[in-house]
Amino acid sequence: MPIDPTLPYDDTNIFAKILRGEIPAKKVYEDDWSFAFEDINPQAEVHTLVIPKGRYVSWDDFSAKASAEEIAGFVRAVGEVARAKGLVEPGYRLMANIGAHGGQEVPHLHVHIFGGQPLGAMIAPR
Ligand code: 5GP
Repeated sequence: MPIDPTLPYDDTNIFAKILRGEIPAKKVYEDDWSFAFEDINPQAEVHTLVIPKGRYVSWDDFSAKASAEEIAGFVRAVGEVARAKGLVEPGYRLMANIGAHGGQEVPHLHVHIFGGQPLGAMIAPR
């Protein structure tokens, strides 16, 4: 079920539990602002999720309320993970789903990093 990105942050969401170490995840990267881990249901050869450590529901929430340090840290972390995975030269795709039309399932901002293969059409055909 897609989530409503206008609702307040829910501390019981699955990524909050991963951040608190309550459920396991295959960690790829961590710094003061961000955490990256492998998607449990990969849709490409490389499918890694990067999340801010702060309590943000979506890109909307994050872009409106996060500090400049949090935003810079998160953007740098996404680039760091892509470089560490060797994705820059072959290319890769970033995706952040927001709300119902975006198909967002988890109400904690996450950027998907896809790569390791040609990724095809940008979105499903209309
Ligand atoms: P969304 O549709 O919200 O953009 O993407 C949510 C992503 O989180 C999906 O790709 C899904 O496979 C992934 N996911 C959901 N639950 C878990 C989990 O418990 N662990 C991990 N590593 N990924 C998860």
